[in-house]
Amino acid sequence: MEVCCQLPVLPLDRPVPQHVLSRRGAISFSSSSALFGCPNPRQLSQRRGAISYDSSDQTALYIRMLGSCVIFKQLSTRDVRVRSRAGFETERRGSHPYIDFRIFHSNSEIEVSVSARNVRRLLSFQRYLRSSRFFRGITVPNSSNILDDDYNGQAKCMLEKVGNWNFDIFLFDRLTNGNSLVSLTFHLFNLHGLIEHFQLDTMKLRRFLVMVQEDYHSQNPYHNAVHAADVTQAMHCYLKEPKLSESLTPWDVLLSLIAAATHDLDHPGVNQPFLIKTNHYLATLYKNTSVLENHHWRSAVGLLRESGLFAHMSLENRQLMESQIGDLILATDISQQNEYLSMFRSHLDRGDLCLEDANHRHFILQMALKCADICNPCRTWELSKQWSEKVTEEFFHQGDIEKKYHLGVSPLCDRQTETIANIQIGFMTYLVEPLFAEWARFSNTRLSQTMLGHLGLNKASWKGVQREQSGGGEDTDPAFEEMDSDILPQEPRLS
Ligand SMILES: [Zn+2]
Repeated sequence: MEVCCQLPVLPLDRPVPQHVLSRRGAISFSSSSALFGCPNPRQLSQRRGAISYDSSDQTALYIRMLGSCVIFKQLSTRDVRVRSRAGFETERRGSHPYIDFRIFHSNSEIEVSVSARNVRRLLSFQRYLRSSRFFRGITVPNSSNILDDDYNGQAKCMLEKVGNWNFDIFLFDRLTNGNSLVSLTFHLFNLHGLIEHFQLDTMKLRRFLVMVQEDYHSQNPYHNAVHAADVTQAMHCYLKEPKLSESLTPWDVLLSLIAAATHDLDHPGVNQPFLIKTNHYLATLYKNTSVLENHHWRSAVGLLRESGLFAHMSLENRQLMESQIGDLILATDISQQNEYLSMFRSHLDRGDLCLEDANHRHFILQMALKCADICNPCRTWELSKQWSEKVTEEFFHQGDIEKKYHLGVSPLCDRQTETIANIQIGFMTYLVEPLFAEWARFSNTRLSQTMLGHLGLNKASWKGVQREQSGGGEDTDPAFEEMDSDILPQEPRLS
């Protein structure tokens, strides 16, 4: 069963043509912005199945289907998915970067008539209707007893060492039959006592985690559920660090784990510049700013609400949770690293971090999530190398698309000129080393030293590879310097 609507693409900053307005039954547009607050539920309920646009709010969309009213707007919980008939075909729903390539070959967008730009808008909740294994007739083993029968012995054994920095998430993913994110996060909720403390319904929790896992794109070489599981495991390791474990509240731990598990939710496998240059609807929706991170956050909020996991909490607490999860996820925008790192450095220089203060704890959790997100080079060589290959594969895949459609190949994405070693050395030098050096100043523990140790060894290994490939010369990728010129390699300053 597939639910999708044939809709014309409408530039949101232009008046809606009358012929479209008249297509009652399929689409309706409202000129009243009051609808955004749903002041009259009856009015909405009479328009079941309709998709309403309010032309007075340029980025807002109302979509209701199957009797549900869901509000999409800039501060919405879910985004609308768009794909073009002329774009990619994929078996999965989500924000795969469907593109109407006719746009690129016209001199002006105006030349592309509305009627010629028909696209199909796939709604997020196709999870149930199109993509779910159930509707595809694939039997899904009931893994509700994820702490018992459905684990094989080895996966269980691995979870006993979930706080180990050497934890092999790839092996764990195989042992759990591709359910590493669900299994690991559920286990961590249990381990941290969150289920009991927040009186969580375990079935709702499991359902939420399954939805999260399914909303990652398994076809992405890197930004998939295994990366999310890896980041969640790393976050758990940081939460256990003495400075944090002594001061964190169950609330902090709860937010940290949810943010880690959802921080790349529905990642399309291409970066923000790609979305901007292809006029992707997400770039428009979020005004070209932290486009992906905003989308991950709204997607996470959508699933939280949909699962009803925290329905027993007060509205105030739920809103606070959604907002704080957003702050954590938005901090993973690598283009903002310089700002976060400067703030972190200033606090450490002044020695004024006080973890009794909820705001300071929250800031440290942002830094911890940033570390968890880019900690691949701090893992053992065996794990780190696999991540390096996967992320490069994703970059090069984007580059291939950009070449094919003459979009201009993004930095780091050209398989003809880039190498894994160059990319990794640049990444470590300009982004990873500065961040982890400061983290080690904050938390000078055995784990921090272990991470810096692996980082040094891995960088040396990639330099060895680089020397072999280039016949002796070293060539750090300049793309990282352009990306954040203020973050320069520094000697670790351990206090
Ligand atoms: Zn990530």
